[in-house]
Amino acid sequence: MDNCIFCKIAAGIIPSTTVYETEDLRVIADIAPANLGHLLILPKEHAADFTQLSEEKAEKVMKAAHKIVKAMKKGLKPDGINVLQNNGTAAGQTVMHYHMHIIPRYENDNVNVNWTPMEPGMDAVAQAAQATKAALEEE
Ligand code: AMP
Ligand code: ZN
Repeated sequence: MDNCIFCKIAAGIIPSTTVYETEDLRVIADIAPANLGHLLILPKEHAADFTQLSEEKAEKVMKAAHKIVKAMKKGLKPDGINVLQNNGTAAGQTVMHYHMHIIPRYENDNVNVNWTPMEPGMDAVAQAAQATKAALEEE
């Protein structure tokens, strides 16, 4: 896609620190990492977010994530690893080309992946789940 920086990085038009590449994706070092060693998995085909990513590419991203997480554990030996990705600005997405973060974590580091747990009660929990369940049943 024209003017998408991650399309250009994934295609190799803009240079990046690449740690892994296949026909379908490129894994690069995040330029402003949460912790050193933070990686991003970029599919080569543009998809704005997870809802736009094909099931086929999603499988390939998850397979690469599995490989990368194991390599990061072996190579970097962090205390933990977060695998996460953001969809939509409300969820913290800043680059509108789907990507998955692989973030090495250390005891008492300064990274926050946090929320305050609600206590809405079981009725509200079940009702909210029903919205997605009903949509699934329509497919
Ligand atoms: P998100 O907030 O989930 O959209 O994450 C976007 C990520 O892309 C951030 O962690 C940025 O540091 C990273 N980023 C933005 N531009 C570049 C770039 N040119 N090369 C590598 N990482 C980048
Ligand atoms: Zn793109």
